[in-house]
Amino acid sequence: MKKKIAIIGAGIAGLTLANLIKKYTDHEFMVYEREESLSLEEGYGIQLATNSIKILNQIHFNKINDEKIFHPKTIDFYSIQNEKICDLNLSKFNSVEAKYTTLQRSNLIEFLKEDIYTQHLRFGKKIKEVSELKDKVLIKFDDNTNDLVDFVIAADGIFSNTRSFFEKKKNLVGMFWGNQAKKYIESIDIKDHLILTSSHPSPLSVYLGFNGCNHFQLCNEYMLKNHKKTIDWQTYDPNE
Ligand SMILES: Cc1cc2nc3c(=O)[nH]c(=O)nc-3n(C[C@H](O)[C@H](O)[C@H](O)COP(=O)(O)OP(=O)(O)OC[C@H]3O[C@@H](n4cnc5c(N)ncnc54)[C@H](O)[C@@H]3O)c2cc1C
Repeated sequence: MKKKIAIIGAGIAGLTLANLIKKYTDHEFMVYEREESLSLEEGYGIQLATNSIKILNQIHFNKINDEKIFHPKTIDFYSIQNEKICDLNLSKFNSVEAKYTTLQRSNLIEFLKEDIYTQHLRFGKKIKEVSELKDKVLIKFDDNTNDLVDFVIAADGIFSNTRSFFEKKKNLVGMFWGNQAKKYIESIDIKDHLILTSSHPSPLSVYLGFNGCNHFQLCNEYMLKNHKKTIDWQTYDPNE
């Protein structure tokens, strides 16, 4: 079934994945980049080992203009005192279809953007918040726009903000006391959390389930099981 995918970040990873999705699937997808343009600054090079060339060849990197790439045969390693440590024969890793390659980073980005630039790339989209709504994900951006998608792919680099939204929201404990509170469970994706329910602790209903429900103990047991800090409920300050 056709799905809607949001890729966060138009770096090498996000753009490569976008090309692969375009080539191999009919899913709807969009790459969201926080900057206003792609950095095509010349001067920075990148070395690509044969495994990455094999992936890139799936999206026709082998058709790139030969003048833009170079296949070094060896790499020499030097100490900071400029003494040679060793050299590595790169040709050993090469095959006919995938050779160790170096090129300008800007040329790689140019290549990766070619097929997706106009229809599948949005700039100035810094992700602000991500929330799971049943089987969809709502993404909110800094410019007050949003998108509702089936999947979010965090390709926003090593300090990914996007990943932290999901990681933070795993293994939470929700205590829902009383019928009014229980209504909120419907809007939560409960599979990654512990959901505890009981009657409301008011004098009228405390004996209908709240007494003896052990929610605080169950919460700490769950925290321990998931390698999280337990809570000292005697001194607990919700404003901390
Ligand atoms: C000096 C240097 C040299 C390197 N040389 C090599 C090399 O020779 N060979 C090699 O294989 N690797 C090299 N690397 C590593 C390589 O550059 C990285 O592994 C690669 O760029 C990672 O790509 P990426 O797409 O995962 O992340 P990034 O390139 O970091 O891209 C992430 C993108 O996400 C965007 N973004 C971030 N946060 C948000 C947000 N909240 N919302 C929306 N968008 C967001 C960013 O603006 C960026 O465009 C080098 C790295 C450095 C620093």
